[in-house]
Amino acid sequence: MITTTQLYDIYLKHPVISTDTRKIAPDSLFFALKGDKFDANTFAQKAVEAGAAYAVIDNPEYQLGEQYLLVEDVLTTLQDLARHHRRQLGIPVIGLTGTNGKTTTKELINAVLSQHFKTQATQGNLNNHIGVPLTILTIDATHEVAVIEMGANHQKEIELLCSIAQPSHGLITNVGKAHLEGFGGVEGVKKGKGELYDYFAPLPPKGGVSKTDVAVFVNSDDAVLMEMAAARRLPHVEYYGTDAIDNLISGELLENSPLLTLEWTNNKTGDSYKVKTQLTGTYNLPNILVAICIGTYLGLSANEINAGIEGYQPKNNRSQIVQTATNTLICDYYNANPSSMFVAIENVGKIEAKRKVLILGDMFEMGPEAAVEHASVIRKAMDTAVDERIFIGKDFLGASQSMDHGPWAMGKFYETAEDAIAALKAQPITNSTILIKGSRGMALERLVELF
Ligand code: ATP
Ligand code: MG
Repeated sequence: MITTTQLYDIYLKHPVISTDTRKIAPDSLFFALKGDKFDANTFAQKAVEAGAAYAVIDNPEYQLGEQYLLVEDVLTTLQDLARHHRRQLGIPVIGLTGTNGKTTTKELINAVLSQHFKTQATQGNLNNHIGVPLTILTIDATHEVAVIEMGANHQKEIELLCSIAQPSHGLITNVGKAHLEGFGGVEGVKKGKGELYDYFAPLPPKGGVSKTDVAVFVNSDDAVLMEMAAARRLPHVEYYGTDAIDNLISGELLENSPLLTLEWTNNKTGDSYKVKTQLTGTYNLPNILVAICIGTYLGLSANEINAGIEGYQPKNNRSQIVQTATNTLICDYYNANPSSMFVAIENVGKIEAKRKVLILGDMFEMGPEAAVEHASVIRKAMDTAVDERIFIGKDFLGASQSMDHGPWAMGKFYETAEDAIAALKAQPITNSTILIKGSRGMALERLVELF
């Protein structure tokens, strides 16, 4: 069997990793990972034939020659290799987790830092026990800083991901209601996400951070995060938020129409700046402020920071604005959970628009909380000043039926997207700002062509 150090020498000569035989990069290292329905050991030969330099496998039956590297377990080998690689990199790594806004925040931090440094960041949403090591293994000697998104839907996952990415700088975007099933309720989410703070406390993390300070960035407006941070002996904390007290960076919204314009202040110098963003959603304010805070902390100029923020355009239907012939769409159907639903609805309540419509799809992975949580989103929608409310999915329909008469009168409920599409075709919506949000599985992008 091959050791991690031996494999590392091979990796340095073949630094591209492949895990999918349909996309084998020439001269790459193929890792034969196991999925629910497949065992990639069976594809190792195909990978080598397709041009992989080596295949890392954990079943000796498939070891057909020198190009096949046998290990105890392919997944843990991939993680160990990434951990080892991270240790060799003397660069700051910014690790972030949280319930909502991780990808947006990661991209904003990357947009800011790349104005000054050669950066590497998680591609898309590759934020799990496979995505994090794969991301770490794309960092090379030319990179000056990395931004790593860490996702979790159960305990001990962030602990593992921190042990691989070994962040020198970290943040939790927020702690809210998502993956309640896997975490075991909100307290469970707090504990699970708190593993990032645990990693930094009580002593600075080891390895890979020789040239940089260690710092944790905390949103001082978020009482839960403040309490979680205070409960640990974090080595160095920098705050950001709307209140100037003790914040390195504070900021406030000047405009939400529906794109955000904000003013931010560097409280060390007292200088303030105005920046126009391509983001919507008041909930994006802390995401923007932490990117500004990290940029400032790492020594970027205000011009560089503002260029990064202004240039960032959200992608992949995360609060993306689409202007059609007659409507403004807030396409937020990438995902949904009670926390992100609440803030998205609140945002529509606050934006400047003539006519406002909510189209909300079911939230998945809610476990036993599903009925209560769907009912509270219905109530939130009813209490928000909008002109039309449309709910799609079995959970919303079921929750509405167990509620009193009010919601029935104020909203339209459809069991399936097909039913909603038929109704919207018969009665099209025009001249409106429309929020479309639901869990990924609801695939609400199907509705867009109607507007
Ligand atoms: P995932 O768990 O899928 O990786 P994520 O944490 O990376 O999600 P994003 O993809 O950045 O989150 O954003 C998804 C949606 O979460 C956004 O479109 C928006 O509705 C909501 N969101 C973003 N930031 C916040 C925030 N600070 N608070 C609450 N909701 C937010
Ligand atoms: Mg994400």
